[in-house]
Amino acid sequence: MSFTKINHYEKEYADTHHGTALNVTEGVKDQPIVNPYFTRRKRRQLSTEEYVAGILGGNITILSQAITLIESSNPAHYAQAQEIIEACLPHAGKSVRIGITGVPGAGKSTFIEAIGGMVTSLRHKLAVLAIDPSSERSGGSILGDKTRMESISGNPDVFIRPSPSAGSLGGVARKTRETVVLGEGAGSAVVFIERVGVGQSETAVHSMVDMFMLLQISGAGDELQGIKRGIMEMADIMVITKADGENIHKAELAKTQYQSALRLFPMPESGWRPMVYTSSAVAKTGLEEVWKGVEEFLDHTRANHFFQHNRNRQNKYWMYESIDEVLRNSFYQDPGIESLIGDYEQRVLNDKLSSFIAAKELLDIYFKDIK
Ligand code: GDP
Repeated sequence: MSFTKINHYEKEYADTHHGTALNVTEGVKDQPIVNPYFTRRKRRQLSTEEYVAGILGGNITILSQAITLIESSNPAHYAQAQEIIEACLPHAGKSVRIGITGVPGAGKSTFIEAIGGMVTSLRHKLAVLAIDPSSERSGGSILGDKTRMESISGNPDVFIRPSPSAGSLGGVARKTRETVVLGEGAGSAVVFIERVGVGQSETAVHSMVDMFMLLQISGAGDELQGIKRGIMEMADIMVITKADGENIHKAELAKTQYQSALRLFPMPESGWRPMVYTSSAVAKTGLEEVWKGVEEFLDHTRANHFFQHNRNRQNKYWMYESIDEVLRNSFYQDPGIESLIGDYEQRVLNDKLSSFIAAKELLDIYFKDIK
């Protein structure tokens, strides 16, 4: 807009609103209407092409903004996010995705920070993402966790993103998976996906990573009791953390116990017998050994094609998961269904209607509606 046009606009504005220029100052009251428009316009300026160019160019600010689109519940944002993901897909998939789990306090954040520093010193770009479907409840502490990764959070080769805010596990997991695509598009060669909180989200993390690392504290009482067999079976690498000071001996003992316990499990599909390591993130010991283990696992699973087979299987799984999620949302967010479902629920609760009939009638209504 040229200067004359601005003046003309101001005059016209003053004329239409108040008749004299003196009243223009009252226009300040209108500012909230004018300014939000301006701010909104400024934020939405990026086109899909600009987002994609920014991400592929490794621009962390643009990457963060694009992830915000993924996490948004606004359908317009969702649509644009899908376009961005699609454009980034040919550039994604080249990283190593590593899931990290362990009880709260096992030392995950501290370990990721320590091994992350080492990984970037090998000139790998790193992304640290988190999954926590319960993050609304414990949001504060998670933010606390992330700010504690101080030594790597300022590193230009490290991108850290806390969990998408609470929602269904499927929704949170999908957003994280889409975030992986963008992170890889931006050049991350290593992606850590940390399961934080206490939710049952190990399986979700497992379904999007190439390998799974379980962190265990040594000396936490009965070593083999505190952990579910199913989670142990998922682990490709187990790390006994905090192996420093008086803990070293206990950590070594735990390592031997876990190693023999793992030997009793059937050979995993990957053909890789899980390895157990001890490490101290504080004393910075054992980190290189763990990373060597990661590389050996990758060499092994690439050579026997499990790596690619696993990724293909995950892609198929996520196709069905996405369909399920969209169908479920479409059903529950249908205005007709929303207005009826409470009544149906009540009738089921009062034994007036069987749950099967209630479900069938609601689904019939829904499918008739969308025809
Ligand atoms: P998370 O909840 O699994 O992410 O665990 P944190 O990384 O927050 O660690 C929990 C506590 O253990 C913190 O107080 C850390 O300082 C401490 N910690 C973590 N790693 C080590 C370690 O290698 N040695 C020792 N001695 N303490 C550690």
